[in-house]
Amino acid sequence: MDDVDVQERIAELRKLIERYNYEYYVLDQPSVSDAEYDALMNELRELEAAHPELITPDSPTQRVGAPPSSAFGTVRHEIPMLSLANAFSEQELRQWAERVYRLAGRRDIEFVTEPKIDGSAVSILYRNGVYERGATRGDGIQGEDVTANIRTVRNVPLRLHDVDGVHVPEVLEVRGEIYMRKSDFEALNRRRGEAGEILFANPRNAAAGSLRQLDPNVTASRPLRFYAWDVGIIEGGQHNGTHTANLDLLRTLGIPTAPDYHVWQTIDEVWAECERWLSLRDELDFEIDGVVVKVNDEDLQAELGTVSREPRWAIAYKFPAIQKTTILRDIEVNV
Ligand code: NAD
Repeated sequence: MDDVDVQERIAELRKLIERYNYEYYVLDQPSVSDAEYDALMNELRELEAAHPELITPDSPTQRVGAPPSSAFGTVRHEIPMLSLANAFSEQELRQWAERVYRLAGRRDIEFVTEPKIDGSAVSILYRNGVYERGATRGDGIQGEDVTANIRTVRNVPLRLHDVDGVHVPEVLEVRGEIYMRKSDFEALNRRRGEAGEILFANPRNAAAGSLRQLDPNVTASRPLRFYAWDVGIIEGGQHNGTHTANLDLLRTLGIPTAPDYHVWQTIDEVWAECERWLSLRDELDFEIDGVVVKVNDEDLQAELGTVSREPRWAIAYKFPAIQKTTILRDIEVNV
C-alpha cells in the first residue's frame, strides 16, 4: 500500500468504526458482530503502529466507548474508567506477560483471572455505606448519571454494613458490570416477540439498553444483575494492597463480585484457566467473551501504569468468535 492508500484506508476504517461505536454504545443496536468489529479495529491499530505520524487523538484506537448521551446528566470519573487491551491467542497472552516481567524487572508476579462477562461497565459510589450514585463508563472520563436506574438492580446493595470487624469505607467506589443472564435474556426476548417489540441482539445489548432507559420503571422491569470487578475510590478504609483483597472486601460487605476469581503464580496456570473457562462457556448461564487477567499487586499496577486507553497491568484474553447466525425479525445478524 502506498502512503495515499494507507491514509485512505485509515480514514475509511475510522469512519466505519465510529459508526459501529455509535450503534453499539449509543443505540445499543450493533449491526455487525464483535468479531467483525475487532478485525477492523485490529487493522486500524496495525496501520497506525506502522505509521505513527497518522495517529490522531480522536482516532477510535485512542478513545474509550462513546461520549455520554445528553439525555442523562453527566458524571465525571475522578479516576478514569479505561478499556482493556486484548489478546486473541495464547501467544499474545504470553507476550503481554513477558512485557510485564520485563517492565517489573522480576518474574515472581501474581496474576488474577476473572471471567469476562459481557455487559455494560458502571461505577457505583457509596458514601458512609449508603448508595449515592451510579454512572455508566461513557467515554471513560465522563459517564451518564444512571443513579435511579442502578437503584432498581436487585443485587446492588443500597446500604452496606460493617461485618465481623470489617469496616465500610467512608467513600467506596465500586466498578463492575451490569449484565443479563442468558435465560433471563431469552425470556425477555420471548416476551418482546409476543408483544411485537424489537428483539435485542444479545444479552450485552439487552443489559446496556435496559440500563440506559430514561424511565427507571422500565429498567426495574428488566432482569438486570451486577457484579463488581474493581474498586475505584476508597477512602477512610484500609489500603488492601492487592486486587483480590479488594474483591474479598467487597464480597464481605455483600457486594457481588466476579464469580470464581483466582490467583496464579505462573502464566502457564493462567493459560490453563483461560482454557477451562473456554470449555465451560456454553454451560454457563451468563455470556462470557473471554477471561480478564490482572496483576494482583496494586503497587506494581501503579508502576506499570497505563497507555492511552488501557492499563498495562491487565489484559482481556478474548475467546475465538462463535459462528452462530440468528434470525432477528426479518434481519439476519451474526451473534
Ligand atoms: P472490552 O469489552 O474489550 O473490555 C473492557 C471492558 O470489559 C470493561 O470496560 C468492562 O466493562 C468489561 N469487563 C468485564 N469483566 C471485567 C473484569 N473482570 N475486569 C475488568 N473489566 C471487565 O472493551 P470495550 O472498550 O468495552 O469494548 C470494546 C469491545 O466491544 C470490542 O472488542 C467489541 O467486542 C465490542 N464492540 C462491538 C461493536 C459492534 O458493533 N459489534 C462496537 C463497539 C464495540
